[in-house]
Amino acid sequence: MNDEYILEVNNLKQHFPIRTGFFQRVTGHIKAVDGVSFAVKRNEVLGLVGESGCGKTTVGRTVLRLYDPTAGDIWYRTERGERINVATLKARDIKPLRREMRMIFQDPFSSLNPRRTVKDLIGEPLLIHGIAKGKAMEERVAALMTEVGLDPNYMERYPHEFSGGQRQRIGIARTLSLSPRLIIADEPVSALDVSVQAQVLNLLQGLKDELGLTLIFIAHDLSVVEHISDRIAVMYVGKIVEMSPSEELLRHPLHPYAEALVSAVPPADPDIKTQRIILEGDVPSPANPPSGCVFHPRCRYANQSTCVEVEPVLEEIEPDHFVACHLARELHLAGIGG
Ligand code: SF4
Repeated sequence: MNDEYILEVNNLKQHFPIRTGFFQRVTGHIKAVDGVSFAVKRNEVLGLVGESGCGKTTVGRTVLRLYDPTAGDIWYRTERGERINVATLKARDIKPLRREMRMIFQDPFSSLNPRRTVKDLIGEPLLIHGIAKGKAMEERVAALMTEVGLDPNYMERYPHEFSGGQRQRIGIARTLSLSPRLIIADEPVSALDVSVQAQVLNLLQGLKDELGLTLIFIAHDLSVVEHISDRIAVMYVGKIVEMSPSEELLRHPLHPYAEALVSAVPPADPDIKTQRIILEGDVPSPANPPSGCVFHPRCRYANQSTCVEVEPVLEEIEPDHFVACHLARELHLAGIGG
């Protein structure tokens, strides 16, 4: 792993057992994540997008070892420059990493204990990790509240006294309290009104630049991640099907699924007319994925031989542009302004 990379994930798999019957025998597996590989540079934002159930949240949780991976490596370069495989760490060795690798959750209300004040919520990680208590903790909480655009005079208030956007700011302050280096933001604006989403996105972008953070930004909506992400990885049924710099993906998608996601993004220029592609059918179950290319039952370009029988592999077919599609070199797919 080159020095500029903070994280490198290789062939990550997260298969959850399906247990049935009185004896709870394992009768199958849900392949929530099935061979995902990507790398993230320092101070980069990688967007991870795809429909619900595609495995993007499971990737985030597995990278942070909230789940133990079924297989694969998660190489992380620590603040001290050590290269650690998070996938194989013993539980006691994970705790120090929890300071460096943190998560922002989707629902700011359910992720905050309603019976605790904002001071307690933001200060708790400082206490747990023995970083600050008493007056020093209060000062750090006040500084963090200011950093995320909240009035520190409200630190004795409870989460229900804040709006949805403010609650997400509390969640972000709590995440920042331990000065992390890598943040996995799991749908951090999906539960917010559209008018508030832009404010929170701008806050995250500003904090990333100011604090030199690295972010994995998970969302189901490509239009949410496109502005904040340097690169975007598109997931479908547990696999990455396309990955490239954001602008390139929007302008020039190479995978038919990415083309459909791009078609739903409103163009910045209202004079540009786009044709929205509505995908027929449902996302297949990761417990019983289709043969060949997992996207073939919904793909309007699928052919009946190769696509149905042979699974495509993710390959770099243009510089820094990876795609898993047999026909990627032949198709001319529509992007925004493309
Ligand atoms: Fe569609 Fe075939 Fe490409 Fe899969 S491999 S995305 S089915 S064209």
